[in-house]
Amino acid sequence: MTDTARITHWIGGKLWDGAPDRQGDVFDPATGEVASRVDLAAPAEVDAAVAAAKNAFGEWRASSLTKRTQILFAFREIINARKDEVAAAITAEHGKVLSDAVGEVTRGLEVVEFACGIPHLLKGGYSEGVSTGLDVYSIRQPLGVVGIISPFNFPAMVPMWFFPVAIAAGNAVVLKPSEKDPSASMLVAQMWADAGLPDGVFNVVHGDKPAVDRLLEHPDVRSISFVGSTPIARYVYETGTRNGKRVQALGGAKNHMVVLPDADLDLAADAAVNAGFGSAGERCMAISALVVVEQVADELVGKITERMGTLRTGDGRRGTDMGPLVTAVHRDKVASYLDAGVAEGAELVVDGRDVEIDGEDGGFWLGPSLFDRAGPDMSIYTDEIFGPVLTVLRVASYDAALEMVNSNPYGNGTAIFTNDGGAARRFQNEVEVGMVGVNVPIPVPMAYYSFGGWKNSLFGDTHAHGADGVHFFTRGKVVTSRWLDPSHGGLNLGFPTQS
Ligand code: NAD
Repeated sequence: MTDTARITHWIGGKLWDGAPDRQGDVFDPATGEVASRVDLAAPAEVDAAVAAAKNAFGEWRASSLTKRTQILFAFREIINARKDEVAAAITAEHGKVLSDAVGEVTRGLEVVEFACGIPHLLKGGYSEGVSTGLDVYSIRQPLGVVGIISPFNFPAMVPMWFFPVAIAAGNAVVLKPSEKDPSASMLVAQMWADAGLPDGVFNVVHGDKPAVDRLLEHPDVRSISFVGSTPIARYVYETGTRNGKRVQALGGAKNHMVVLPDADLDLAADAAVNAGFGSAGERCMAISALVVVEQVADELVGKITERMGTLRTGDGRRGTDMGPLVTAVHRDKVASYLDAGVAEGAELVVDGRDVEIDGEDGGFWLGPSLFDRAGPDMSIYTDEIFGPVLTVLRVASYDAALEMVNSNPYGNGTAIFTNDGGAARRFQNEVEVGMVGVNVPIPVPMAYYSFGGWKNSLFGDTHAHGADGVHFFTRGKVVTSRWLDPSHGGLNLGFPTQS
């Protein structure tokens, strides 16, 4: 045994004390060193977490809305006060720069704040006197044990899209975070305990496919909220629904930014660089395809290239603009697209392999890269690269740009840059994508709206947080009630009508 730190599960309000069958390496991507080892749950450990959640659910479901809201407010205060600590844990395992990690926690907090309004969000309808002496009202009740499975790229924010609403609505949670950056969820678990959440309402099991598969088949798990790549999202949706669960599975993306000739090209260039290279392109809402109308393409590519020259790539703890990629394997995969794009005939304007790095040699580095004159059949366009590679596709017109976006199998986010209100209005109406920005490159909705894509970017009917989130984590019930009038209506085997 070495003295490398061990990260284990959080079950029933405490750290799991069993010995792991398997463990995974957790890297510091800025040094390339193994920073800790995370336990990878076997089905028995998932069962223990589900049992703890099931055990806690009865009491939590019965606790008053006032009590639940007080705990949510306390949690909000704690995580807000310890935001920097969570951000530091994210940067140490994911690699994104500290300011970006703080931003992620802040966006997650917005969902906690939204969930603090749960008494209002759970209000039902009431119709008095639908028939003589008869009232009808609707209520929404929690599901029970709910599973959340999250990706590496937002280890704090993505789980926070779901668990604040789930817990506020009275459910008990089993979270399976990414095994690549598991520490943020452990901090969050401790914060829930400090906020007074009863043991077992929030559990964390670490792991990979066996843990996910057990959650998907466990009879006591009522729903699955998944975020990750499209093939796994499809698998999770199909397996979970086959097992009778409610499933929302958010998948991968290829987000287009359309630039029309009348756009403010400085604004568009800033936006393309921010949205293309922020978090090293490891964002599901990153812009990876820049669809530019030919007549302004040279000028825009020039402005973007100029700005890329000012970016500092390096250790996210050193005040740099862009950190490393999450693992060496991922870094190599992303870098392989630079060769593929050239082989396919695109013009590699900026090669991220040439960039000077402010960091340790062993880090998983790749600087920002830019392709121009790419075609829609090239793998640099058809594949989700999920790294700092921005690809320019030149088109003749708005119609050609729209056709390209709508032909793409993904539909997570998109943006249009223009000063023509009519064109923007047409685009928001005609584009087949779930989240649309008008002169806004990363249109992530506020917590009181819902986050989610279309087509291969989301399997299921409901998006995350906002009204969809409340709906997903509750079941509707309608009560038809008669009081006061004790008279007996007599036998009548006909179908009841509201007369
Ligand atoms: P991933 O699909 O590899 O992993 C996501 C989760 O699934 C992890 O918890 C992982 O342990 C688990 N998993 C991995 N392989 C599995 C398998 N074979 N069977 C069962 N479970 C498995 O995704 P990632 O690399 O962690 O994250 C990046 C991906 O997530 C990108 O495709 C990105 O676009 C997507 N993403 C989408 C959104 C969105 O809102 N649509 C948000 C964030 C990330």
